[in-house]
Amino acid sequence: MVLAERRAELTSPRRIDDDPDLLTRARERLRPSLRRVLNGTGVVIHTNLGRAPLAQAAIAAVAAAAFGYSNLELNLDAGVRGSRDEHVRALLVELTGAEDALVVNNGAGATLLAIAALAREQGIAVSRGQIIEIGGGFRMPDVLTLAGVPLIEVGTTNRTRLADYERAISERGVTTILRVHQSNFRMFGFVEEVPIERLCSLGVPVIDDLGSGALGKGLQVLADEPLVHRSVAAGAALVCFSGDKLLGGPQAGILVGGSDAIEACRRHPLVRALRIGRLPLAGLEATLALYRDPQRAIREVPVLAMLSYDPLTLADRAERLAAACGGKVVQTVARVGGGALPLLELHGPAVAIGDPDRDPTVLANALRTGDPVLVPRISDGRVLVDPRTLADDEIEVAAAAICRALQAAT
Ligand SMILES: *Cc1c(COP(=O)(O)O)cnc(C)c1O
Repeated sequence: MVLAERRAELTSPRRIDDDPDLLTRARERLRPSLRRVLNGTGVVIHTNLGRAPLAQAAIAAVAAAAFGYSNLELNLDAGVRGSRDEHVRALLVELTGAEDALVVNNGAGATLLAIAALAREQGIAVSRGQIIEIGGGFRMPDVLTLAGVPLIEVGTTNRTRLADYERAISERGVTTILRVHQSNFRMFGFVEEVPIERLCSLGVPVIDDLGSGALGKGLQVLADEPLVHRSVAAGAALVCFSGDKLLGGPQAGILVGGSDAIEACRRHPLVRALRIGRLPLAGLEATLALYRDPQRAIREVPVLAMLSYDPLTLADRAERLAAACGGKVVQTVARVGGGALPLLELHGPAVAIGDPDRDPTVLANALRTGDPVLVPRISDGRVLVDPRTLADDEIEVAAAAICRALQAAT
């Protein structure tokens, strides 16, 4: 292939590329496009880097499901056709206290399905402060248009009261309320929102789009995120959240709620188009199983572990990395990312590398195009590698990648 290409180049009157290093070219062509990346950014849920790394138990479950056939849609006891979300239904019910549960391929799909299945032509009431864009162009008004449901705006950007929703129900005949968590931003000052408990007291079904999906109780850093079980206990008809944000599992969209509402989703034609694959389903089941013991989840689910590392662990990793690549340990602030906890600052050490007087993008480019790839963070004109988002056994590999990039960049 590469040889044929080179022959064509040499005989062509127009020379396209005069680099005769055909071996490098052939290697690049054979290299997979989707590759492992060392995340040195300190952003724990980095959407561009694949969001949540999986727990060991989830990796094993995915590998087992990939290996051969599985009972994906076969009920082994009865010997009849089963349903794929049966594998996580009981776990989700147990962990959230909901009556029933359903999984689809991502959080956006869960929100779309919930709206399409529950809302009626009279429209859905949404606070003006919650008509948001999540990222990747996923905007609430567009989602409602797609679901064929009129958007009934209530309240104002900064203040929405219970009476605003009551008026939408009594005067405009609204039959459903949608609450959307302000995942990736916060509002301060003269603001007012209606708590989920009061929304659920209005007598119409409430869809609660939580986005991040914090399942673990008792994790201090998650205190600012709405917990799934609170919305379930409040009586939300459907609670939607992501599998690969704060839950720390594979890409998936989870719906939990009342049996009628979940049944309406299950019967909706969209559910077939949003079906989850067997590999993420296997990873999700194993991840959820870890939550049965909250302390175990904090230790073994990487996202939770990274958010709650003790300072000594991070200091030790930073020292090891700095010693191996000649960098300097500095104190910095890491972020959660993935549109969750936008204000939370994770203080900790990072390793500053390279010459502080040189353009940091040269070294960052060398790291990003190296093998293995390491994505650093550039802060105040310096290239930083944050050990929070590197696994313990990635420190040596990262140090070697840094040494090579330092050589290449000089
Ligand atoms: C992230 C998010 C979604 C979409 O979830 P994905 O898993 O990214 O598809 C939907 N709603 C809210 C409020 C979110 O924060």
